[in-house]
Amino acid sequence: GTKLEDEIFRIQQILTAAQIDSSIEGNPKLKNTPLLVENVVSMCLKEAVTNVVKHSKASSCKVLIEQSPDELLVRVKDNGIGIEGDMDSFKGHGLIGMRERLEFVNGSLDISTSNGTTLNIRVPNVIQ
Ligand code: ATP
Ligand code: MG
Repeated sequence: GTKLEDEIFRIQQILTAAQIDSSIEGNPKLKNTPLLVENVVSMCLKEAVTNVVKHSKASSCKVLIEQSPDELLVRVKDNGIGIEGDMDSFKGHGLIGMRERLEFVNGSLDISTSNGTTLNIRVPNVIQ
């Protein structure tokens, strides 16, 4: 498994290599999140940033980590072209796989497109 802190380090390298400005806000050292959930979130972050590099044509990508006692939010926001179509029309497996893995830990993924793409990855700190 991968700690969020390590994944953050890697995605910064990937974004720099792709000449996309990156900014990270919040603390990637997780306090209340179970390791299994952290692994899932790290995989989602990696896929989200890979998509930014592959598809978005963005010049910047912002990652926000927000920890509360019962929930973790990781937001990935780019200023690129946005996602066309809805989830059902996606040919790739990345976003669908993300949503499936998140459901497995009672988390959720929401996607919005305006001035680029924003992904909100949410997971509860307690596995029910
Ligand atoms: P895979 O992840 O299986 O390698 P993929 O990246 O094409 O393939 P998804 O990750 O599911 O598949 O993404 C689905 C589609 O949504 C992409 O093909 C792309 O058109 C669009 N997309 C995803 N993320 C972004 C983004 N940040 N900006 C613009 N378009 C995006
Ligand atoms: Mg993908």
